[in-house]
Amino acid sequence: MLIVDGHEDIAWNMLTFGRDPNRSVAATRTLEQDSEIPLHTGHALLGWPEWVAGRVAIVFATLFAAPIRRKVGPWERICYRDPDEARALYLASLEVYNRLIAQHGDRFQRVESCRDLAEVLATWELEPPESPRLGLVLLMEGGDAIQAPSEVEAWYAHGVRIIGPAWTGTRYAGGTHEPGPLTADGHRLLRAMAEFGLALDLSHMTEQGQRQALDVYPGAVLASHSNAQALLPESPTPERHLTDAVVRGLAERDGVVGLVLYNPFLVGGWKPEAGRAGVTLDRVCAHVDHICQLTSSARHVALGSDFDGGFGLHKIPAGLDSVADLRLIGDALVARGYAAPEVEAILGGNWLSLLQRLLPET
Ligand SMILES: [Zn+2]
Repeated sequence: MLIVDGHEDIAWNMLTFGRDPNRSVAATRTLEQDSEIPLHTGHALLGWPEWVAGRVAIVFATLFAAPIRRKVGPWERICYRDPDEARALYLASLEVYNRLIAQHGDRFQRVESCRDLAEVLATWELEPPESPRLGLVLLMEGGDAIQAPSEVEAWYAHGVRIIGPAWTGTRYAGGTHEPGPLTADGHRLLRAMAEFGLALDLSHMTEQGQRQALDVYPGAVLASHSNAQALLPESPTPERHLTDAVVRGLAERDGVVGLVLYNPFLVGGWKPEAGRAGVTLDRVCAHVDHICQLTSSARHVALGSDFDGGFGLHKIPAGLDSVADLRLIGDALVARGYAAPEVEAILGGNWLSLLQRLLPET
């Protein structure tokens, strides 16, 4: 069984904190123990040996920067004032992945096509794998770097295969903390994305925008990192989670939802003072169950951990220590009565099917 994780902010960590994804999680934590980094973002969850130990073969690796109006502290370096700066910062994220792949091609490979995907998966065939590679599918989170829809072509040429128009609000769509619909520019962006066969990531969009997008977008749709709003009645940010209507809409379009492993998104109103013990893998399973029940299928739910996306060890469910442990969610699902093929689909197969539909042959 291989694991596919639908959302990891690898470049953002490299640019913001100087983290090196080649290091082990333990090495990163030791290196940062006397620094302020854990205060800002928590203890690291991602590292090369952990991806390998956890049999994580593919991740959706984000290009991300925040608008300066959402900057939370002086340590946050990847913030933009206008579309020009946004473009420069997203290109810097792209450059980080390009360099990582150029310097460590034995470990990291960009996945732009079905051929790339097959190549990466083949490196995991032996048990234990001899020289496994982590496949990176580039996901643009937040659309402000795209100055005009015509630029989608250039981003596609750079290897981006998934775009989420919103993070907070952008000129394309309302988003977290900044509600609003898909705008006229958003509709134009979606048309350009469809032309190049990109997937549309609904995470962070408002329900209004998500429903508009589901109505008009002809290509692949997904929510790379979103949980079930129905299970989060106490959440202070209900709009960040998916309503049942949107989950059903995604399923009707053969879409996939990646579950975020962030405690406040698993238990509404959870605070760090409550400790991790109250959020177990059972809670992750509850979100899986909810989506499976709603869609009468195990084909529309997967993982989108959002690991190292502004939170760390103390804000993830008890029982997980790093990305190496994602497979334990499979054990928890088995204990709950899920059959092996369903567990395989949820931990990786569902994302792989979507990628096989999405990516060009070569
Ligand atoms: Zn996000």
